[in-house]
Amino acid sequence: MLASRTSHFVESVIRDMTRLSLKHNAINLAQGFPDFPAPLELKRAAASAIMDDYNQYSITWGAKDLRDEISRKAREYNHIDADPDTQITLTCGSTEAMMATMLALINEGDEAIIFEPFYENYGPDAAVSGAVPRFVPLNDDNSINEDALYSAFNNKTRVLILNTPNNPCGKVFTRGEMKMIADLCADNDVIAVTDEIYEYILYDNKKHISIGSLEDMKDRTITISGFSKTYSVTGWRIGYALAEKELSSAIRKVHDFLTVGAPAPLQHACVTALRFPDSYYKELAAMYDGKRKFLFDALIKSGFKCKEPEGAYYILADLPDGVKMDDMEFAKYMVREVGVAAVPGSSFYKSEAGKHKLRFTFSKKDETLKEAARRLTHLNV
Ligand code: GLN
Repeated sequence: MLASRTSHFVESVIRDMTRLSLKHNAINLAQGFPDFPAPLELKRAAASAIMDDYNQYSITWGAKDLRDEISRKAREYNHIDADPDTQITLTCGSTEAMMATMLALINEGDEAIIFEPFYENYGPDAAVSGAVPRFVPLNDDNSINEDALYSAFNNKTRVLILNTPNNPCGKVFTRGEMKMIADLCADNDVIAVTDEIYEYILYDNKKHISIGSLEDMKDRTITISGFSKTYSVTGWRIGYALAEKELSSAIRKVHDFLTVGAPAPLQHACVTALRFPDSYYKELAAMYDGKRKFLFDALIKSGFKCKEPEGAYYILADLPDGVKMDDMEFAKYMVREVGVAAVPGSSFYKSEAGKHKLRFTFSKKDETLKEAARRLTHLNV
């Protein structure tokens, strides 16, 4: 007999599409990870860390030198004060940080407010921790539907999950929106769990704002981020959670028994990452900006309807006019017949709204994107 909690979610469709893509030798614009090399200096730092014998467990909540650097980065970039000794926990990717946070906060039946479209993991995070998800759809222009948000709060609401920049739609929440969310969280005694993994991937002068930097939110926010996307090392699995002391201590307990700790030598290498100059982050955003424009043009030319994202590295596109297939059928058709893999939109929606959408990532080499664009011209709908 299997635990009923596993019956409330399916295996990741994103990773399923990667497997299908490999099988059909398609270009994988499904799973969001770079196919280009990680920064050389970072690879050298990781190799040296292994040779210097940082090969045993680190302290469960993370190596001290890395927590110190994260504390500095959080102060300077996120405007959040986090004591490295009591408020920072290193985890196996921000995926574990999310799950450990939910397990630390949720009692069976508590409600979790989640904006739609949402990152695939939040459904299983809710299911495993026992939370009842309450989805609040964004408006068509990605603005917040204030009435819907207001009415989602009730006396069972425990957390609100925020993801900015958003995967899959690329929305970057504004300070005004954050203020509105913060007021609702404070009035209803709700904790914000915020996934900021794309915090450096922003376009058109958009600014990243951490809700945890708002005065009322200091003690009621878990700020989650990691190294995967900013430094193109998704396989290293180094993420972290920043939170007030008592919240952190609960997260640390869960984390300790889930994984003991994130990989020690790679944590050590991440200290080097956090010391990269400002130019690194400018170049990263500029590189993705070029890729964003390229993929956007290719999708528009082949009949998809989409907006350019404000941040992150995905485009969520409506299927071309005349397509009779749903998102899943069309995604499978694309992998098989066109040779390009994307993620069916329904992975990001509870409602039917995703059934006419696909998500494409542009976190790929220019030559990969060019070949995808060439193949997309053969789309025959
Ligand atoms: N975050 C990435 C995506 O949305 C990768 C997901 C994963 O496989 N962990 O595609």
